Amino acid sequence: MVSVVGIVGAGTMGSGIAQVCLAAGQQVRLHDLDPAAALAAQARVRDGLDRWVAKGRMSAEARDAAMDRLELVDELGAAATQADLVIEAAAEDAVVKGRIFAALDAVAGPEVVLATNTSSLSVEACALATRRPERVIGLHFFNPAPLMELVEVVGATRTAAPTSELALDFVASLGKTAVYCSDAPGFIVNRVGRAFVIEAVRMLEAGEGSVARIDAALEAAGYPMGPFRLIDLIGLDVDLAIDRILFEAFDEAERFAPPGLQAGLVQARLLGRKSGRGFYAYSDDGSTAPALEAGGEGSALSDVQIVERLELAIINEAYRAVEEGVASPPDVDIAMRLGAGHPHGPFERVDALGLRHVVTRLHELRELGSASAADQYTVAASLWQIATV
Ligand code: NAD
Repeated sequence: MVSVVGIVGAGTMGSGIAQVCLAAGQQVRLHDLDPAAALAAQARVRDGLDRWVAKGRMSAEARDAAMDRLELVDELGAAATQADLVIEAAAEDAVVKGRIFAALDAVAGPEVVLATNTSSLSVEACALATRRPERVIGLHFFNPAPLMELVEVVGATRTAAPTSELALDFVASLGKTAVYCSDAPGFIVNRVGRAFVIEAVRMLEAGEGSVARIDAALEAAGYPMGPFRLIDLIGLDVDLAIDRILFEAFDEAERFAPPGLQAGLVQARLLGRKSGRGFYAYSDDGSTAPALEAGGEGSALSDVQIVERLELAIINEAYRAVEEGVASPPDVDIAMRLGAGHPHGPFERVDALGLRHVVTRLHELRELGSASAADQYTVAASLWQIATV
């Protein structure tokens, strides 16, 4: 059982994770290189808990007790002292993480489990920086951590079963839902959900749909936000960086190739909401308007075709991830619903559409040779196998 949690890195994620742990009754020892960041995190945690009190989700007494359980510590070693679990949520930089894991390993008791909140780096690399690889695991919380229900629990090659069990129990103790996955690039959500944004940009580039049309089609199909609104929110630069990481990790597989249109916008510093303009232009009065016209000469797709293209690409990637042993189909479904807000998981969607229909349409889209990457619609080997028995 985890009762004391050390957290290293008190930025957006570290403070959010601290809030969730404190609300669940755990003691938190929070460390940041920058003492001002730790103080700001303390204020954010207090703000977050105040909001829960205002909503009647917790009492003022429970909030005060939670704040009493938060300790800011100047030394990294102090974050690990007496902790059952330490979660690293510092910069997304392999060298920084390697140093933190080596330092934690030197000071933490031998039983302490060390976790990383990395989104895109290898959990294995963190494990190898320690002499306790069997007690190292990924705990991938989503932003904002106090609101998002999903946590991807990421097992590296030598993660031991008791470490995984502790991590799964810990996530449950926070009132969140865990899915278990292997240490593969993008884990589940960032990989399987990639087609939602990348295919949309390709459609726009090809002239197959406009920003407003594509977003409206997906929103009408039950997605909480169209792909362009989503990219604008994430930041075009941050989103493009995910494309690049996956493109490199998957041996430059075409389906992850960063779209030129988006790279151009990033170069022009049109980064989305944070810069006031991306795929939409954001006015001071709060209104938004599409900022780009559809490109190329492609023929416009219907709403049904737009949604189908994205969903089939997501389904195809889900099958690839499962055949590579990344996660089980039920966990992929849960991850896509809770982590990406999709109205259904990809395997649930196959059940609704029918396996043969999915394979036939993927095949047709591949043959059509639309503007998208050729491998996006090349039927995943396991899907092909199931469909042909
Ligand atoms: P952030 O920039 O908001 O915060 C990082 C904090 O870590 C900063 O306060 C910084 O001072 C501190 N830090 C840097 N090096 C340190 C060190 N050596 N020791 C102690 N503290 C150090 O970043 P973030 O968005 O909170 O992301 C943190 C981690 O969580 C990253 O690995 C990121 O990939 C991952 N993550 C981020 C998101 C997201 O949407 N922001 C979602 C999931 C996972």
